[in-house]
Amino acid sequence: MSRTTRIERYRNIGIMAHIDAGKTTLTERILYFTGRIHAMGEVHTGSTEMDWMVQEKLRGITITSAATTATWKPMRGPFAGLSHRINILDTPGHVDFTIEVERSLRVLDGAVAVFDASQGVEPQSETVWHQADRHGVPRIAFLNKMDKVGADFAMCLHSIRQRLDANPVPVQLPIGAGPEFRGLIDLLRMRAFFFDEETGESSEPREIPEPLRVEAEALRLRLIEACAEVESTLLQKYVEGRLEDITEEELELALRTGTLQRQLVPVLCGAAFKNKGVRMLLDGIINYLPAPSDLPAVEGVKPGTQEHVTRASRDEEPLCALVFKLMHDKAVGSIVFLRVYSGTLRTGMTVLNTRQQRRERVGRLMFMHANKREEVDEVHAGDICAALNLRGVRTGDTLCALEDPVVLETLHFPEPVIQLAVEARSRTDQQKMEEGLTRLAAEDPSLRVEVDPETGQQLLSGMGELHLEIVVDRLRTEYGVEASVGQPKVAWRETLRQRVRQEYSHIRQTGGPGQYAQVVMEVGPAPRGSGLVFVDETQGGVIPKEFIPAIE
Ligand code: GDP
Repeated sequence: MSRTTRIERYRNIGIMAHIDAGKTTLTERILYFTGRIHAMGEVHTGSTEMDWMVQEKLRGITITSAATTATWKPMRGPFAGLSHRINILDTPGHVDFTIEVERSLRVLDGAVAVFDASQGVEPQSETVWHQADRHGVPRIAFLNKMDKVGADFAMCLHSIRQRLDANPVPVQLPIGAGPEFRGLIDLLRMRAFFFDEETGESSEPREIPEPLRVEAEALRLRLIEACAEVESTLLQKYVEGRLEDITEEELELALRTGTLQRQLVPVLCGAAFKNKGVRMLLDGIINYLPAPSDLPAVEGVKPGTQEHVTRASRDEEPLCALVFKLMHDKAVGSIVFLRVYSGTLRTGMTVLNTRQQRRERVGRLMFMHANKREEVDEVHAGDICAALNLRGVRTGDTLCALEDPVVLETLHFPEPVIQLAVEARSRTDQQKMEEGLTRLAAEDPSLRVEVDPETGQQLLSGMGELHLEIVVDRLRTEYGVEASVGQPKVAWRETLRQRVRQEYSHIRQTGGPGQYAQVVMEVGPAPRGSGLVFVDETQGGVIPKEFIPAIE
């Protein structure tokens, strides 16, 4: 009999990083080591398995949050030898796609934050880190590119502590750095592992090289102190000076608890490009990051009431799942990505979409692996899967059992900041463009498509220039639309928001200190400001209409 249940052997994770830190390379290596792909593509040749879309291949950046399933049996730690399922949600590093990160953060349970070891914390890693803080996501850190000239382990720890206000706890110490990066010291076992230069495989455990012993011992003591703050049994041994009585297993469990409670961030390192440290990172993902069952029950309300409902991560609970992404695929049509929080979803079953107030019959269900799709008859609590033929579903919808309806909090998407006018080159193109934009906007809730009531121009609003450029690219490559594109400008909603923020803050300032409206957000329907409602996020409450400037 296995020591753990199925759901305890799940890890739904994201890999988050500043662009170029090596997220794509690492993801690909993870898929390679977990046996799902057998030939590793190089990022710059555009053949990595995670990058599905043509644009991503051309640009070498990852845009969509594809969910990929892999399996891993850790070699050591409390779950050693047990096969685990890792669902990897791709989280793009570019600032224009923070929205994609936001939606992944909503449905993942833990994350690996990847840093370029020669750079430390970079701006986008900071943004994503704070997003993950807001979502309460437990994290481990991976200092990648330890083989790069300028790689600096201590600088990275310092930068994580300072810039992210986090508590980084190294569980490894690199042996050498830059071209001299030769191995890792495991600070739990106090053993050294050397890499094979060709394959990146690590050697059998060896003695710690003498010049690194003092530093390794100091870091181990730091590790013990961090664990003692989490586990009282360890604290006892620590204050009594019985350090030699502290076992590797106790430390592993304390690190896990500390990570889950977000008191500490275990730090691992390596060079993904050279396969170094990737297997140990996979062990770290299983050993430190949460299973769905480690997290509190998901909360929602009974439709049409204020009644609070919770659903624990268990198959025995009534079904509830959140739609977090829609994609269009030429071969199979619309693909709906779901996170199942509780219960079981089967093909052929009829479920309730509570936000759209309609019933849906579940067609095909599948897991997406890096290079193939695996059709299944049912999916369970904790699963992240794809469903086909769910017609009336939108991003953020809840699917649930007919007899036990619940609405989970939907996904929130911020207002677009950049706007672009597009004009089709011909009437046929116009038709194709309308069809294409309808589909693209359904997939991407941060894209807004509207017609300027004055000029009749087609306006696209999005999260940044790159975002809209990609939309226009997709119109051309996927829908065959040739369109001329105007100059990007700040979206009128953003202009209006800034003006309200200014005026309203000014009025607030006169109300005395502490009365500033720091963030003013608009909600409500278009067009052109009619019926818009502005909410003061600092104070709460709706801003009175007289403070909202007229729009010319
Ligand atoms: P992403 O933008 O975070 O997805 O980063 P990529 O995976 O595309 O990597 C960015 C660049 O860094 C590519 O040229 C990679 O080959 C390179 N790279 C990735 N991992 C490593 C590594 O471990 N060492 C070195 N030296 N370069 C790496």
